[in-house]
Amino acid sequence: MEPYNPSDLWKLCLNEAEKRLESTEFEAWLRNSSYEDINGTRLVIRFRNSFVAGHVKSRFGDMLEDIIRNISGRSELALQFIGDPAEPGPSGSVKLSPANSSSTDKTFLRSNYTFEHFVVGPSNQLAHAGALAVSRDIGSTNYNPLFIYGGVGLGKTHLIQAIAHHLRQEGSKRVFRYISTELLVETFIKCVINNDYTKFRKLFQGIDYLLMDDIQFLKGKVETQEAFFHRFNELHQHGKQIVLTSDRPPHELPDLPERLISRFQSGLVADIKPPEYETRLAILQLLVRDEELDVSQDVLDFIASSIRKNVRQLSGVIHRLAAISRLTGSRVDMNLAQKEIRSSLGTITRRLTPGNIASVVAEDFDISPSQLKGKQRKRNILLPRQVAMSLIRELTSMSLKDIGSFFSGRDHSTVLNSIDRIEELKDKDPELERKIEEIRRKLVSI
Ligand code: ADP
Ligand code: MG
Repeated sequence: MEPYNPSDLWKLCLNEAEKRLESTEFEAWLRNSSYEDINGTRLVIRFRNSFVAGHVKSRFGDMLEDIIRNISGRSELALQFIGDPAEPGPSGSVKLSPANSSSTDKTFLRSNYTFEHFVVGPSNQLAHAGALAVSRDIGSTNYNPLFIYGGVGLGKTHLIQAIAHHLRQEGSKRVFRYISTELLVETFIKCVINNDYTKFRKLFQGIDYLLMDDIQFLKGKVETQEAFFHRFNELHQHGKQIVLTSDRPPHELPDLPERLISRFQSGLVADIKPPEYETRLAILQLLVRDEELDVSQDVLDFIASSIRKNVRQLSGVIHRLAAISRLTGSRVDMNLAQKEIRSSLGTITRRLTPGNIASVVAEDFDISPSQLKGKQRKRNILLPRQVAMSLIRELTSMSLKDIGSFFSGRDHSTVLNSIDRIEELKDKDPELERKIEEIRRKLVSI
């Protein structure tokens, strides 16, 4: 198992998995796992209970094995997930404790997602100020709800959890509920199945603050939306503070009823953009200080200029460099940093397939993937198709010919013309250029 022992290997694997998953997902399923034993070429990993172990196996098993084989360079390694029998209960993933004390889903709060650990810059100033204000002063009508939106990995979960930490530190006379929208939906569905809505109602009872992460996942969940709308109004009318995060602004949330959207817009809507260079550098400095890592300014400069769109990637790189440096006892120099960045950007591009690029583009232009790939030549379909072709060319290593076949057997010159056409259009149409940049950003941070 050289150069890593199995326990370190599992830690590195977790580091990598954390980069790839939503933080709520990582927290819920993987955070509390530990290496237990090695059995031939099989690493045995223990989880809180067998329910969690089973879920991890089916949802993340392949990905985790893939990671562990990559890191170790040993393709024969396998993973086994174990846990004691689960208590009979809702999901084993989270305790839905009644909100009558300061204990509200502590499981989901990450210890370093605090205001102290949040670097403020022009890109996130307003969201930060809003979060700070509501955590000091409850129910100020101007900031209720506080709606924070921005792309993946830019600090939304960090900020909303910072509010929770702040409330908790205060000795918490004020009760909060931090919940991911996915969990809310899951809870609601279980209530529907059991025809008993107590658990759903309890989520909102007796709280002063509702902190709800990733509200975009309400998409398509009509009944949950309806139920949530009533709870939202009730809390709002009673002067309770509501904070929501989303990957896009309220008016761009697809399929959400107008009245819910206008509720979301009625307080403070604040966006978070990708950080500027100075902010990225400041974040890196904070991260290396936390990791007690000795890295020269040159190397930090290099990292800050290589990774521009996603803070999660910045912190992923630092965590991995720290792990490697601790395990091998070597210093983090430019060589190591370059290697790490190459491999982390590599992981990103490897995961992009023509299929997922096409579906993101189709969604963004409001057409179906099959229209996008099909034969129609109407302008509202042609343009997104050309955009998709040019992004696939840029972000994958596919040949023009293969891209053509992907789009219902077109030939390579059609693809080439499309790419040229998009370049031309971008020069003339800044709006389109911005839109394409937006899509690219979404894709590289998937
Ligand atoms: P999102 O919820 O927007 O996808 P997260 O809140 O999970 O993103 O942030 C991703 C990572 O980047 C986390 O590790 C977080 O601590 C870190 N991060 C994001 N913004 C900042 C910031 N301004 N200062 C310090 N760390 C940040
Ligand atoms: Mg998040």
